[in-house]
Amino acid sequence: MEKVRIRRELLEYLLELARGFYPNEFAGFLRERDGIFEEVLIAPNPHFGRNSAFFDTWLLPHDESVKGTVHSHPGPNPRPSGADLHFFSKFGGVHLIIAYPFTEDSVRAYRSDGKAVKIEVVE
Ligand SMILES: [Zn+2]
Repeated sequence: MEKVRIRRELLEYLLELARGFYPNEFAGFLRERDGIFEEVLIAPNPHFGRNSAFFDTWLLPHDESVKGTVHSHPGPNPRPSGADLHFFSKFGGVHLIIAYPFTEDSVRAYRSDGKAVKIEVVE
């Protein structure tokens, strides 16, 4: 199984963001350095709401270090929605979904085709 590597500090920050935005979703772009996700750029104008943090492709930053996205789900289901899968397929890369209750165990990663990817936390 493929895997995605993420810095522990970033993962903990993402969990905090998800808790802070609850009951709404948050969405952001993930920057990678040397194969490890290290930084998040909060999406500047996502459609935050109860049901969907829908990324508009017009908002994609022109930044080659951006290799993925992250968003939270205010419910316990970490599976991508239809809109999520549509977005993933356009963007490529790796996509994290953080489901309620926003702990390390409630984070899932998916490829752009919707297949789950293992997450390796790097200290
Ligand atoms: Zn979603």
